[in-house]
Amino acid sequence: MHVYSIPMRARFRGITQRTGLLFEGPAGWGEFCPFEEYDDDEAKAWLACAVEAANDGWPAPVRDRVPVNCTVPVVGPERAHEIVTRSGCSTAKVKVAESTLAEDCARLEAVRDALGANGFVRVDANMMWDVDTAVTAIRAMDRAAGGLQYVEQPCRTLDELAAVRRKTNVLIAADESIRKAEDPLKVAVSGAADIAVIKVAPLGGVRKALEVAEACGLPCVVSSALETSVGMAAGVALAAALPELDYACGLATLQLLDGDVTSDPLLPEDGFLTVRTRAPKPDRIAEFEIKSAEWEARYERVLGR
Ligand SMILES: [Mg+2]
Repeated sequence: MHVYSIPMRARFRGITQRTGLLFEGPAGWGEFCPFEEYDDDEAKAWLACAVEAANDGWPAPVRDRVPVNCTVPVVGPERAHEIVTRSGCSTAKVKVAESTLAEDCARLEAVRDALGANGFVRVDANMMWDVDTAVTAIRAMDRAAGGLQYVEQPCRTLDELAAVRRKTNVLIAADESIRKAEDPLKVAVSGAADIAVIKVAPLGGVRKALEVAEACGLPCVVSSALETSVGMAAGVALAAALPELDYACGLATLQLLDGDVTSDPLLPEDGFLTVRTRAPKPDRIAEFEIKSAEWEARYERVLGR
């Protein structure tokens, strides 16, 4: 069992250091890396995901590569243009709602310019808006971006998402609502979303996430939880095993870490990740390994639940 700690290239989700735990089983390596705010009960799903990777491996893929989006954080238009151009991706996910509407729109114009007419622009508002603000912002952003592919989690509750969805023509994706839903089916039935963003670790592994995808009955976008290549491989396995994959996935996040535990990292090429049936071997753990009684205790507690 190895605890790692890797610096982030930039602050993301309020963290500057990504910490987690790696272990090996008969089927390969697993990564257990719930964020700080997850309590032991919630972290149980993250452990199940790591144990699945280490003990059972993953269901057979139905595709050998997975399209991915680049991510544009809250930056100025020039930097946004540069990020998209360098990524080689034809889909860009743009963080919005943390700067003014005018700044968000300027960033979106730059992203569209970088992608060209055939690219796809999606935005993520991370639950920041109320219904009226969302409707106004989405209309302006849809114009600025020359058409939005979808808006991710404009508001907090399912009722609000459903209200926004009735008032705009832009597709709505549920992210936080899926992760926190007791019953993901409710998201679809309540008319709250057109698309489901699914993450393999908080849902308890590839097989569990496939069940959630089937139950909610919506097209899915697989996203990461800022894992190293070891944990990321489970997300790629999920995207590879989904019967339908209509949208680029949010699995190009390794670049947000300033290092990786493997010399064989899961980095995209020309906007695609190659599917592997096993997680890469963490042959560079020593570089990032730390002693952490806290993480070892967390693992033991979650295991006992
Ligand atoms: Mg999101």
